[in-house]
Formats: sequence, C-alpha cells, structure tokens
Amino acid sequence: MSSKAVDAVVVGAGPNGLTAATVLARSGLAVTVLEASATPGGGCRSGEITLPGFLHDRCAAVHPLAALSPAFAELGLADQGLRWLHSPVALAHPLDDGRAAVLWADLGRTAAALGIDADRYRRLMAPVVHAFSAITETTMRPLTAIPRHPHALATFGVRALPPATWVQRHWFRTEEAAALWSGSAAHAILPLSAPFTSAFAVMLQGAAHVAGWPVAAGGSQQIVEALLRVATNAGVTLECNRPVRHLGELPAARMVLFDLSLSQVRQLADERLNDRARRWMQRFRHGPGSFKIDYALDAPLPWTNAACRQATTVHVGGTAAEVVAAEAEVAAGRHPARPLVVVAQQDLADPGRVPPGRAALWAYCHVPAGSTVDMTAAIEAQIERFAPGFRDVVLARHTTNTVQLEAYNEAYVGGDITGGSYRGLALLARPHLSIRPYRLPWRGAFLCSASAPPGAGVHGMAGYHAAQDALRWLHGAG
Ligand SMILES: Cc1cc2nc3c(=O)[nH]c(=O)nc-3n(C[C@H](O)[C@H](O)[C@H](O)COP(=O)(O)OP(=O)(O)OC[C@H]3O[C@@H](n4cnc5c(N)ncnc54)[C@H](O)[C@@H]3O)c2cc1C
Repeated sequence: MSSKAVDAVVVGAGPNGLTAATVLARSGLAVTVLEASATPGGGCRSGEITLPGFLHDRCAAVHPLAALSPAFAELGLADQGLRWLHSPVALAHPLDDGRAAVLWADLGRTAAALGIDADRYRRLMAPVVHAFSAITETTMRPLTAIPRHPHALATFGVRALPPATWVQRHWFRTEEAAALWSGSAAHAILPLSAPFTSAFAVMLQGAAHVAGWPVAAGGSQQIVEALLRVATNAGVTLECNRPVRHLGELPAARMVLFDLSLSQVRQLADERLNDRARRWMQRFRHGPGSFKIDYALDAPLPWTNAACRQATTVHVGGTAAEVVAAEAEVAAGRHPARPLVVVAQQDLADPGRVPPGRAALWAYCHVPAGSTVDMTAAIEAQIERFAPGFRDVVLARHTTNTVQLEAYNEAYVGGDITGGSYRGLALLARPHLSIRPYRLPWRGAFLCSASAPPGAGVHGMAGYHAAQDALRWLHGAG
C-alpha cells in the first residue's frame, strides 16, 4: 500500500484510465494510476506472441474510433508520434462464389459496387457521412445528455434504431449489402434481431467513409506509448503490478476513478454500497466472450477475392443469414459451427510488423461467456472456405480463450470485450439510466471505463468525460 497522499487515484491503465489521469493532471491535480499488470495499456497492447519478428495486437487492432476521438486529438497524441496507416480497402466481406462486399473509404465507390443497392446505400449513408462530426459529438458522450445537434441525432437515430435484420431484409436487395451490414452490426455482440444493432453498422461504416479503418504504425501499443508520454508530461505517476482488490488498498485521495468493468467495482466496493446501489449494480450484465487466434504466416493469405487481399479487416462469415444465425447461437449460449470470424491483416498497411515476405493474421469470434471451448477448427474452416490453402501458410498460432482473456486483462469478465452487454437499454444508458452516468454511489468515486458511455473501443472518451465530471464535482459545480 502506498502512503503518498494524492488528489486522485485512477485504478487501471487502459486507454480510458490513462486519458482520465492526464485530463486530471493537466488541471493541476496530483494523480497516481494503479495498474494490475506488469505493463500499462489494457486492451491496447502489442507483442511477439507467435514467433520472433511477428508483432501482434493482443486485443484492439483497428482504430476508426481512436482516429476520430476528440479526447485523443485534445491530448495531442499525433504530436507524440502516433501515426495512422491505411490499406486500400477498409473492410471486405467475402461470399462463397468468389464475390465480396467491399467497404471503401470512398462512399460513392462502395455504393457503386453494390449494384441495385447503390442508391439505397447512398441514401442510407450519405446523410450520416455529411453530419458525421456532429453525430460523433453526440454519440461519443452520454446519450442521456441534452443533445447539442438534434438534427444530426435524428439522422443517426432513425438509422440506428432498426434491428440489423430489418435493414437486411427490407432495405437492401443484394446479398453483398446485407452481408456488409450484418458483419458490421455484429460488433454489438447481440442477436441481430435486437433493436439498435444497426447503430454499430451506421457508426462503423460511417467512420470508414470519414476516417477509414486505420491501424497504428508499429502496433496498437503505440497509442498507449503516446498516451504514456502525455501522461508523464502532465505529471501522472504510474505504478504497475498493483492490482486493487479492496477499497482499503487505495492511497488517501480526494477522488478515485475506476477504469474497470462495473462488476469488478461492485465486488471491490461491496461494503461501501447501500442496498439500492447494490441492486442497480447487480442488474449490470456482461455479454458473451470472444475466442482469439493470432497467426504467423509464411506468406500473405490466398484469398479467392482480390479485395480481401487488400483489406485491413475481413468479416469471414458468409451470407447475412449465416451471420445472423451465428450471432443468435452465441446469444443462446451455444458455440456456432460456422462463426462470424473478424479478421485483421494489419501488416498490409504496416509491413514492418512482420519479416519481409511473411504475414500475420489477427482473428476472433464470439463465444458464450466463460467458454473454454477451442474454436481453432471452426475458425480455420471458415477462413479456409474463402482462402483455400490458408492452413498451408500457417507457421505458428497463439490461441486465447475467454478464461485466458480475463487472466490477461481482468476487466474482460468472462471474456466480455465490450465492458458489459449492450442488451436492452444498455446501449442508450449504461451503466444505468442517469444524467450522471460516471458517478458511483459513494462520494468522490467515478467509473471511467468502457462500462460507461460511450462504451467499448479505444477512444479514451469515457476517461475524458469521467475526468471532466470529477473536476466539476471537485469544484462544487455539479
Ligand atoms: C480481442 C479484442 C479485440 C478488440 N478489437 C478492438 C478494435 O479493433 N478496436 C477497438 O477500438 N477496440 C477493440 N477492442 C476493445 C478495446 O480493447 C476495449 O474496449 C478498450 O481497451 C477499453 O479500454 P478501457 O481503458 O476502458 O479498459 P481496458 O483497456 O480493459 O483497461 C483496463 C485496465 O485495468 C487493469 N485492471 C483490471 N483490473 C484491475 C484491478 N483490479 N486493479 C488494477 N488494475 C486493474 C487492466 O489490467 C487494464 O490495464 C478489442 C478487445 C479485444 C479483447
């Protein structure tokens, strides 16, 4: 236990924790960050986990949200050497007959390739792209806040509300457009018949048309390195190997911010909670888990479709109907035989991550929470289906099931990579319905993680808003 008195303690050095700490330190507070792992960064670290010379992103890989993040822009991460790299195609979604749906940065080019859905895709996405900065200003903060751009919110809301299955069946007529939409919406990790699943497709495909889906030069770890430099410059103290299991382990401070999942906070603060607080915190639910594989490859993947050979991200799951079925299986607590596999090929944009002539692959699929089932065969059958000969180029693989994911980062409870389920109203109001969603139910305590608005992803916005709220509380202004 540290005896040093500080103004603020941040528990957890993920992207949100480091952002919160920097915002507080820049306002003149003495801030200490306590991190359980030996290294900071949470879900935004990279390492050589297959073979020497192959750099893999351990968790987050593709960064439309970080590239668009107002918090990262304000902290000046670009001035710390952080660079975004793009491959020609943001996303490809292959189909069995060698066709693929292709998400280009250019909206017109994406639409044109969708045949009879070209006009419908344009009508769906052009207003979103037009209003994108106003939309992100609204969606990257609590949706319970008074909207600054009601018109942009309406443009977003009308497209975000329908279940992805509704858009696939009633708006699009081509398999390509439906498959593209379903793969993007599946990042909600919900049954795609659930309301608001289209919100994920709107945001992710809109982001592709505005900022692309870039990777960080030198690995996702470089986002954290840039964050660490701004935090250090602001005077933040970081202590690693400091897991917090109980509030009594915290140094004396005027306030504490938790970059943890809400269920972790409930456990370590249990004795501080009254019955009402315990009840709402118990209602918070985690979503399914993920099973991940990193590959070192002898050569780039032999995708049948040429666009897949140029795409940073490939959604490997077949038709929209197959994707819907796979995500429904996961939601029902079963392991899909044909999962949707999210694949990233970062070295297409950033060749320095692998030895010359070689390649790497990052892949995961959704599984029930807490699963220890080895999904390697199912994932490889799906990739082989669209890239025959894939298994022949595998030099080494590293698998991570949900239990190992949680051991790697305790915030991934049961292997949940989104900091809590988006089921029901959780997309609009999590961790619970409140105009002050960052405040925890005891004085001076705040939630600054992906469990708070605007939710999962590497963008630092939960940390940014939680820190602003903490400063308002400290100065008696709210
Ligand atoms: C396989 C996978 C793929 C992903 N892909 C993407 C992607 O491509 N793009 C994207 O934007 N996002 C992606 N994500 C999600 C992204 O990684 C997270 O949403 C993001 O890291 C959340 O940031 P955070 O700061 O809230 O929490 P985290 O990054 O989870 O950080 C929490 C920190 O708290 C520490 N901690 C936990 N418990 C304790 C404790 N008791 N005491 C002290 N410290 C503790 C952890 O060690 C960790 O450092 C992915 C995640 C996974 C797992």
